[in-house]
Amino acid sequence: MPNSIDPTTTAELLARVERESGRTPDHSPLDAWMRAAAHACRAELAERMNAALRSDREAGAKRVHYLSMEFLMGRALSNALAALGLEPAFREAARQAGRDPGEILEREPDAALGNGGLGRLAACFLDSMATLGLPAFGYGLRYEYGMFAQRIRDGEQVEEPDDWLRDGNPWELQRPELRFEVGFGGAVQGLAETGTEALGEPRRWIPSERLHATAWDFIVPGYGTRRVAVLRQWQASPSQPIDLAAFSRGDYAAAGAAKQAAERINWVLYPDDSTATGRRLRLRQEYFLVSASLQDLIARHLEDHGDLQSLGAKAAIHLNDTHPALAVPELLRLLLDEHAMSWDEALAQCKAAFSYTNHTLLPEALETWPVPMLEELLPRHLELIYALNSRFLAQVRAAVPGDEGLIARVSLIDESGQRHVRMAPLSIIASHKVNGVSKLHSELMVETIFADYAKLLPHRFCNVTNGVTPRRWLAQANAPLARLLDQRLGTSPDWRTQLHRLAELAPLATDAEFCAQVQAAKAHNKQRLAARIEHELGLCVDPSSLFDVHIKRIHEYKRQLLKVLDVVARYQAICAAPEQDWLPRTVVIAGKAASAYAVAKLIIRLIHDVAAVVNNDPRVAGRLRVVFLPNYGVSLGEVLFPAADLSEQISTAGTEASGTGNMKFALNGALTIGTWDGATIEMAEAVGREHFFIFGLDAVRVRDLRAQGYEPRSYYNNDPTLRAVLDAIASGAFSPAEPDRYQGLIARLLERDTYLLLADFADYRAAQVRVDALYRRPEAWAERAVLNIAGMGAFSSDRTIRDYARTIWAMPTPD
Ligand SMILES: *Cc1c(COP(=O)(O)O)cnc(C)c1O
Repeated sequence: MPNSIDPTTTAELLARVERESGRTPDHSPLDAWMRAAAHACRAELAERMNAALRSDREAGAKRVHYLSMEFLMGRALSNALAALGLEPAFREAARQAGRDPGEILEREPDAALGNGGLGRLAACFLDSMATLGLPAFGYGLRYEYGMFAQRIRDGEQVEEPDDWLRDGNPWELQRPELRFEVGFGGAVQGLAETGTEALGEPRRWIPSERLHATAWDFIVPGYGTRRVAVLRQWQASPSQPIDLAAFSRGDYAAAGAAKQAAERINWVLYPDDSTATGRRLRLRQEYFLVSASLQDLIARHLEDHGDLQSLGAKAAIHLNDTHPALAVPELLRLLLDEHAMSWDEALAQCKAAFSYTNHTLLPEALETWPVPMLEELLPRHLELIYALNSRFLAQVRAAVPGDEGLIARVSLIDESGQRHVRMAPLSIIASHKVNGVSKLHSELMVETIFADYAKLLPHRFCNVTNGVTPRRWLAQANAPLARLLDQRLGTSPDWRTQLHRLAELAPLATDAEFCAQVQAAKAHNKQRLAARIEHELGLCVDPSSLFDVHIKRIHEYKRQLLKVLDVVARYQAICAAPEQDWLPRTVVIAGKAASAYAVAKLIIRLIHDVAAVVNNDPRVAGRLRVVFLPNYGVSLGEVLFPAADLSEQISTAGTEASGTGNMKFALNGALTIGTWDGATIEMAEAVGREHFFIFGLDAVRVRDLRAQGYEPRSYYNNDPTLRAVLDAIASGAFSPAEPDRYQGLIARLLERDTYLLLADFADYRAAQVRVDALYRRPEAWAERAVLNIAGMGAFSSDRTIRDYARTIWAMPTPD
């Protein structure tokens, strides 16, 4: 990457700024600077995209198509400038005009088209696919409103629309030539009967509603390569934008109805990452995404290869969770009905092309759709699902005769109560590979939710442990540490693309000078966060205190509430012995609650109530601070991960599929306090378990405790510390204006405690004591921080994508 300043590029940038705003660069608004820089990048990226598409076509290359309802991209400018080598010119141009480059970058809104981990994973994957030079398309929806903006009013979450497209999006390229029709409703012609005897026959679906899907491309640069990945996002429009007859009658609502129905598809991202949302609009969104994407990839395949016989060999189609699972019947429909392929051949193409990632074991998150809803919206697809099912069940009956219980369990149709189509089984039987996202998760997946399928299809299941892109989560987010790594490791080969090189840092863990430099980088990042907290909340925090950080979606299984119990216990302990030498801590919590998730919202409120009491109590001043930073998202994460001393990964063992926040923390030198869950296990194994603060029940003990009858109240009765904490919260010590505000929340813990907070409480406290003790020995802490960084080589999403390419997509990648 050239690091010298190219005067031509600088001059071009300045000229662009002037064109963008009609003013001289020193008088141009920061937004114009941001757009001008983005447009400069986009022009270069578009050339690279065309070159990549051309060379892939000439080579007849296999491509991967990553279908996802969510892409949590964050900002793009800083990443693009670094990848394109334009950063020096950008900084120089800003300098010449007296502008602060950091302030320009801050003007870019986050592209928050995702809820959390699943959407962020898709974004890291695009970065890695581009960087590895893997021919790749991401396919998603162009949501007009992304993840809601979280405001806090009187300690409570208020959701505000994320109007991220208001001022236009300087990155996207509209592709009016890429337009496909997507139908809904209507009837299937010649639909006499369903069943295996009619499987091979093409049918004609006559939809009652027809929409158009138009592509908008967002180009993702690779690092250190001219290769790019393309994120293609679909926009819906009506085939008839206005009903002129209705308009003439003065019935404007009817005149605009079709336009509104189309626009609703792109309206807003469903703000829930953990329960299946049985809403009609969500189903329409899902089908719209897959239909447009498959038509697009088939058209490209025909252009490249002439026929569809090689579709499965040349097109990998990956389902990011089951949200795009309607791709299965849609591809069957396209091949059978539109392209005259036989049933057996179409099914073989599907199996060769499809693969599916499961992201959660929580039963409430397994997607199903009511049969009547599918019948009404997608009648032909329901017929194909029935056909797939009858064929699959016949095979099961042949393999395991006489087990009708098994048939009911593995059927694609859930017949208990109102009939539903199960989307995970649909994805499993039509894919050649199904993967979980960490070793533990993949094991539990085949032992629990998919146990029957794993017995029937033993070779279909595998593991690919998640990863994160070191370009964004280290190089970009943590400039001081990145500079240090450049000094110590050099840049050939660049650790940014060869993250295993971090292992070379392990011997430096005992190098006092290096450790001091790592600590200095951390101190710098903590100052930056402290300034941000003061600016946003008017709250002073001490950058030399231990920064204890719990940031992720608010969900009971992630146990923010356990963190609160720990904070209250610490608060009470300090109040009881104020003369003691307490290690100063700043507890930082951030995360959004799904708008319909009442308990999660109550937990946010409790955090604020506890913070108000703690932060205003002179007895704990200088020892304990509690901060809730609103509106957690990618950009806030880029400030938080580098500033953390302690990473909180405290989910109930067996519930966090992988976690990726855990990786971002460790990569930035935070130590982890956590349960034996998700990918935290593999991280601890890579670094050395003794360097992690592991506590609590593991997944086996969790299962056993539940099986033998968990009694949370016994922990309350036997642990005076726990009792004092729960009593204080339940009695209104933190909500004096409304003393019973948290009675129900605490009663839930005492009666049921689904996520075993009380069982893990004492051990969590003990682990926190070990944390305090180590933090008092800065050299020992720094040594462990370095060992953590050194152990993160395997948690680059480059490694993850190589694993997918080799074991699932059958695609070559460079080393
Ligand atoms: C990494 C990331 C997540 C995932 O965090 P977990 O701790 O793995 O749940 C969620 N949201 C954002 C914005 C992220 O960057």
